[in-house]
This record gives sequence, structure tokens and C-alpha cells, in this order.
Amino acid sequence: MKGPVEPFKIKMVEHVGMPDEKRRIAAIREAGYNTFLLKSEDVFIDLLTDSGTSAMSDYQWSGMLLGDEAYAGAKNFYHLEKSVQDVLGYKYLVPTHQGRGAEHLMYSHLVKPGQIVPRNMYFTTSKLHVELPGGKMVDTIIDEAHDPENEYPFKGNVDFKKLQAYIDNFGLDKIAFVNVEMNCNMSGGQPVSMQNLRELRKICNEYQLKIIFDATRSSENAYFIREREKGYESTPIIDILREMMSYSDGCIYSAKKDCLVNIGGFLATNDNDIFEATRNMVVVYEGLHTYGGMAGRDMEAVARGLREGAQYEYLKYRINQVRYLGDLLKDEGVPIVKPIGGHGVFINALKFLPHLEREQWPAQTLSAAIYEDSAVRSMERGAVSKGRDKETGENIFPALELVRLTIPRRVYTNSHMEYTAESVIRLFEKRETIRGLKMVYEPEYLRFFQARFEKL
Ligand SMILES: *Cc1c(COP(=O)(O)O)cnc(C)c1O
Repeated sequence: MKGPVEPFKIKMVEHVGMPDEKRRIAAIREAGYNTFLLKSEDVFIDLLTDSGTSAMSDYQWSGMLLGDEAYAGAKNFYHLEKSVQDVLGYKYLVPTHQGRGAEHLMYSHLVKPGQIVPRNMYFTTSKLHVELPGGKMVDTIIDEAHDPENEYPFKGNVDFKKLQAYIDNFGLDKIAFVNVEMNCNMSGGQPVSMQNLRELRKICNEYQLKIIFDATRSSENAYFIREREKGYESTPIIDILREMMSYSDGCIYSAKKDCLVNIGGFLATNDNDIFEATRNMVVVYEGLHTYGGMAGRDMEAVARGLREGAQYEYLKYRINQVRYLGDLLKDEGVPIVKPIGGHGVFINALKFLPHLEREQWPAQTLSAAIYEDSAVRSMERGAVSKGRDKETGENIFPALELVRLTIPRRVYTNSHMEYTAESVIRLFEKRETIRGLKMVYEPEYLRFFQARFEKL
């Protein structure tokens, strides 16, 4: 087996050091066994996240020099607006500093206290920005998504029976809008099918419910549609994207993923009311509506990156590099979420460390152990990320307790994938020796970022 050939050549490199075993053990202890609290200097291969960690192209970097840093009406805003119109097909654009800025504007406008937001599966910042104005996000994803072994090709799909039950039980007034995340992160980077989106639009039209996409990984989702859905085998990615978006009333978008930039975000919509309201609020929280917290140069990089990230040859390499790492692990029996997702490989920590209790945080434990072994930084995506029930205050233990090896775009080579796989396989072979963790500090919001642990 070998990895996909990279469709680029490397013109600049960044040196990375390898901390020795003594330093690794000390570093992860000092970080409270939370990989978010490690210093980047102590990391050899950083698979914490694909967010803002991409390598920009020479075309993007040259665009950075063309930043028009006017307070109002910078030309880069209009370039970005044109990219969003061309690639995603939305009419209106509101730029924000990153994705959560867009979530804040969109969700605080649409959510009234006591309302629910059905979404295929929650994402951390999305859930919080629905809760802050008094709403509640409820998972509406198909059952297959909760089973890491299930090979269903579209494990991001919305379950219409679950959606109908929310409509019946809560009543239409209590539903703020329906939210769909493209290439659903928390279920393992799993796509939503075009057919699912099309049918959802029909249902929501009947009930006059708005559909808002979290389109953050929509380009990677579009690649999977082309790969797996009948009728799209040779459709250009941009045509697929435009059809996907046509089934929504608007989207929020973190440009830090599929747009191949280090910072940026926006919301986009065809809905006049949403546009009016959010364009007004952006001035309060982000900046004027023609920059929204981004510098002119950042907007140029996003404008160019949105187009580059939707190129078929690039996406093919991207998705297949992730798959390469996943296959290396799968072939040695390491339990991973199947099918292999778009932006990372998700290890099933409950199966990897079956001897640990849920409250010994298996995914957190495994993520710390991987760092200790090889200075590869991964992330917990399980009960620590999920947090506590808002009403009862109890820990929620989701079916998926995962460690995410997230692959930055265009940054690491296939031999980095091999190094990572060797470390995980080494740990898998001595998995009974791995001890669990105890949480010793828990912040109130998004606890996974700052929580601290001790070894049991
Ligand atoms: C990253 C992300 C966000 C939040 O965006 P930021 O740019 O990190 O603020 C929202 N939704 C999804 C699906 C994401 O992956």
C-alpha cells in the first residue's frame, strides 16, 4: 500500500524538533494530560486539528500582498463575495473573524428562548451558540452514525423520522430552524448525501422551516458525493456544491478548514431578513460588514482558497491521504470509525481501551498516550468534548468516544502518516498497560479546551 501522490511541490519548509522521551513525559504531565495545553514547540507532528493549520499556496500568499486595508469597501471583500457566489451560489455574504463569529450572528438572530435546533450532529461551538440565546441543539442524525463499525456511505445524513418526532412533540413554533453540518465532524467526518438534502428541503418546505447549513467542510462533502452517489460520478465539484447549497436558506462557514487559510469565516444566505439582521449585528461584534474582523489580505486568501479547495485533483489527494493513514491502522486491527472520514481518522477509544471506565476518559487517555509515545498530537472527541447536560448537570457519555487524528491540508507527507500509524499500532499492541485519567479541573464553557487531568 502507498499513499497518494501529492499534487504540489514544496517551496518552503518549517523545521520541527523531536522532544526526547523524558521531555514528552514531562510535557504532557505539565499540560494536565490535555493535548490542547501542550506547547506547539513540544509537538513533532500536529494532528490536533485541521482548523487554520493548512499550508497556503503561492497563489494565496501572493494574494496576501494585495490586501486592500481600507476600513470600508476593500476590494478583497468583493473578491470574496464573488467567490462565495461562484462556488457556493449564495447571493449575500457577511464576513466574520472565524466560524464561531458567524454562528454567533446567525444563531442569536434565529434562536428564541425555549426553541430547539435539530441538527444531524452537534458541534461544540455550534451547540454553545444555540444555547447562549436560550435554545437547545438536538441530534437528528441516522442511527448508523452512532455505530463506528457501520460502513454506510453517508453517515452524516439526517434521520427524517427523528426530525418528524421533534416536530410532532415540540410543535413547529418551538423549532428555530433545521441545521445540517456538511461532512459531519463529530460522527467522524462523514458526508451527507445529495438525496438526503433534497428530501430534507421538501419536508422543510411543507412545514416552512428554514434550513441553515454548517458548510465548513462542504467541499470535502462534495467530493464524497461525487465518489459515492449515483449520477454525480463526473459532475464538477462546484456544480455539486451549488446544488447542495441550493437546498438551504443560508450557511455559516469556518474558512479555516476547506478554504485552506489560517483564519477567517463568513455567513452567506439568499434570505433578505437573515442578511439584514446579521449585516447589522456584524458591526457590533466583528467589524464593518465589508471586513467582519478579517484584514483585507485575509479575505483575499479566503477568496482564493475557497476556489482552490474545491478543485477535484486537490480533493482527491486530500481525501486519499486521510484514507491512507486510516488503512494503515485498520490493517493492523486498530478500531477506527468506518468508513474513513474526510478530515481525519477517528480511533474508537472504547474498543481500544475496553478496560477503562467512561469516567476514566478513555479518549483523553489515549490521546495523551499517543503524545507520550511519539510526540504526535491528537484530540479527544468524546465525553469531555460533549460536556454536561444543561438541565441535570450530569456528564453526558455519547456512544462515540473517539480520538481524532486530524490531518492539516497540504502540510504533512505520506511518511508522516506512516510515522503516526506506527506509534498508534505500537500502543495498540500494549494497550492493557495504559492507565486512565481523573479530571481535576473543569472550566464552565467548552471544557475540553482547558480541562486538566491526572494519571490514575
Ligand atoms: C471549526 C468549526 C466551527 C467553528 O469555526 P471556528 O472557525 O473554529 O470558529 C463550526 N462548525 C464546524 C463544523 C467546525 O468544524
